[in-house]
Amino acid sequence: MYDRFILHNVKHVDGEEIDIVIEDGRIVGITPVGQGIQTPSQPDNGVTASDRLGVPSPSLSVDGITVYDGQGDYVSSGWIDMHVHAFPEFDPYGDEIDEIGVKQGVTTIVDAGSCGADRIVDLARSSQEAMTNLFAFLNISRIGLKRVDELSNLEWIDRGKVLASVDTLCDVIVGLKARISSSVVGGNGIKPLQTARRLSSETELPLMVHIGSAPPDITEVIPLLERKDIITHYLNGKKNNLFNEQGQPLQVLVDAIARGVHLDVGHGTASFSFKVAEAAKQFGIAPNTISTDIYRGNRLNGPVYSMANVLSKFLLLGYPLEQIIAAVTTNAAEWLGRPDLGRIRIGDAANLTLFSLEQESAILTDSEGEQRTTNQFIKAKGVYTNGTFIKCEVRA
Ligand SMILES: [Zn+2]
Repeated sequence: MYDRFILHNVKHVDGEEIDIVIEDGRIVGITPVGQGIQTPSQPDNGVTASDRLGVPSPSLSVDGITVYDGQGDYVSSGWIDMHVHAFPEFDPYGDEIDEIGVKQGVTTIVDAGSCGADRIVDLARSSQEAMTNLFAFLNISRIGLKRVDELSNLEWIDRGKVLASVDTLCDVIVGLKARISSSVVGGNGIKPLQTARRLSSETELPLMVHIGSAPPDITEVIPLLERKDIITHYLNGKKNNLFNEQGQPLQVLVDAIARGVHLDVGHGTASFSFKVAEAAKQFGIAPNTISTDIYRGNRLNGPVYSMANVLSKFLLLGYPLEQIIAAVTTNAAEWLGRPDLGRIRIGDAANLTLFSLEQESAILTDSEGEQRTTNQFIKAKGVYTNGTFIKCEVRA
């Protein structure tokens, strides 16, 4: 018997109302609401949702056809989080893959250098048991986040092991990660980034560079970045950040954007400031991708909590919903070289996130402890990925 799932009465971010028909995990139909979708009629004895699939009500399932009423919620291609920590063994920067993935509306996560060459194989293996798709940045330090000063000893950057990992896991590794801030590099200053630059050209993989406190000074760091490299934590409010006292972007940032360097949020525990984000918005320095830098601690205790919570902050900043959703769908998919992950198209494997815009007030807190009151927020409702619909059960 075939397995047909109909996502009924949902809308694109542009407001177009559609039904999406999925058969055996693949999109076979996309139709305007009310046109041509045959829904099974409600049986007299009531309806049981498929518990096995985790299909939430309101849904009904008859003869292998499950209909889920989206009740006018939004649908986009599955959200992609470009900066997470998905290796639970490493404390404090680790978490369970599906807790930071599908359970909060994210179908694809990119681990941002939790593991170096020593453990990257274990990370890749653990993702095979998860519902969430996983890619990874390989930490240039072979020990990864086993210690949080992983670049304080240059001997931990093992060229041979980096090359071997990239070779073995070419389907998983999408770039190299270097955390370039004082607590990570110790007395090594800019040296680890210079080594990362060389490894990037040898492996032909872009860099994701974490920025933070000096040394090294930010004006030494940014000029080393090239097209397609990523600056993560670009809205951090630390002393060594990318904006001056007046909130204007530093010249090194303006030049980097002109070279095609990519800006990523990487909210995290300590790296998102409303003040900096407001200045960036004012000067038109928008994010290419919005990511969480989520791990167990900042998921459970804030200020990250979830991807939806981070996205809601950008609504409050005044970014249009279309632009916000593009920052976790099309923009990320393009960077990954996987345009299929950023679209909803007949013939593709269904990879969808269902979400709503709740018109309610809520308090949002940044990494500096500053609070803002919003009167609307984004809430993840469910995902369809790898042939299964999963309801989201986290706070907004
Ligand atoms: Zn991180």
